[in-house]
Amino acid sequence: MRLDGIALWDGTEPRGPVDLTWEPDRILDLRPAEQRHDGLCVIPGLVDTHVHLIGDARDRPSDFTTWPLVTTRDEQVLHGVAHAQRAMRHGVTTLRDLAGDEAQVALRRVFDEGLLPGPRIRVHGMVGMTAGHGDLFLPPAHPLRKPTADGPDECRKLVRTWARAGIDGIKITTSGGVLSIGDGHDWRNYTREEIRAVVDEAHALGMLVAAHAHSEGGIRVAVEEGVDSIEHGTLMSADLAETLAARHTPVAPTLLINKAVAEGQVPVPPEARAKAAELVAKRDLLFAEAARLGVRFVLGTDANGHHVQFGDQFAEVVHMAEVLGMDAGAALRAATSDAADAIGMPVGRVEPGLGADLVVLRGRPWERIEDLAVANIVAVVSRGRLVAGRLP
Ligand SMILES: [Zn+2]
Repeated sequence: MRLDGIALWDGTEPRGPVDLTWEPDRILDLRPAEQRHDGLCVIPGLVDTHVHLIGDARDRPSDFTTWPLVTTRDEQVLHGVAHAQRAMRHGVTTLRDLAGDEAQVALRRVFDEGLLPGPRIRVHGMVGMTAGHGDLFLPPAHPLRKPTADGPDECRKLVRTWARAGIDGIKITTSGGVLSIGDGHDWRNYTREEIRAVVDEAHALGMLVAAHAHSEGGIRVAVEEGVDSIEHGTLMSADLAETLAARHTPVAPTLLINKAVAEGQVPVPPEARAKAAELVAKRDLLFAEAARLGVRFVLGTDANGHHVQFGDQFAEVVHMAEVLGMDAGAALRAATSDAADAIGMPVGRVEPGLGADLVVLRGRPWERIEDLAVANIVAVVSRGRLVAGRLP
């Protein structure tokens, strides 16, 4: 397949008009050419480093807490397929699920094997404490709970159990959360010894560790113990920002979800709205300062189909540029090549030898980030195959 004479932004910089050829699933050649398509460009498919594939994928809103209780597991997994394919058609061709299990591993395999069209998937399994953020999405009386781990030895065992299941990485919680029931975002999750055991064991088994942290203390202990990314990172003081910048630790700011919850744009319990409102009131100023200090922000939305949709990723990138004061090129890199590097996948670039994940768009998003809009999508190529629109 080929695209001739189209302006390319390659994942790091603009390259002018090129002739681009690929065969599923490999970019073959890329050479300078005469411009043939005025106003169109091609960029790499986006990489969202923080999603939750399993959530209600129907258009009508449903209750986030009760949907998993009234929907069979089999049906939930099919909603996960729908979410993944929806993201792909909206130009997001790589997704990292940050609370996955055998179901997301199955989706990864089915998409990789070409049984169903779907994006590239990475799956992290949750390691969280009893009464931690991850343990509080179900009401206390509900018997069917996901595993928790307490004490360094149980933490190591849960990491090993995920590795045996074919999981790619670990998600640890080091502070309370917003949508978890009955905790505070400033609750401590895990002692330093437990976090150290998780990071040590995961790294020994070749897995990256993503840390959910809102509170200053939760971010600090996670970064000091060597996690590979910070998720949310909301109350990031200037001295923490300097440490994160020096270590080049990626941070997924999940801007739209916390704003939507704080402003009551989506149905949430009053408790969650109050927690988000308190966080968001402080967040944007801290984040702008952190970006100025050189913190490495990457695209991570927390999309789950309830509070942020699969397909909202372009809007998240535009909002990142606004809140973080990034220029258009930096915001695009944060959503492509740098996000790919953050999750350790060879994607997010248009380069001979790499896989063919491409978005053809109207506009010049590396000059005007607002051109990164779903309405401007002309075509999406995932794993070398056309999955949305038509090639020009
Ligand atoms: Zn999340």
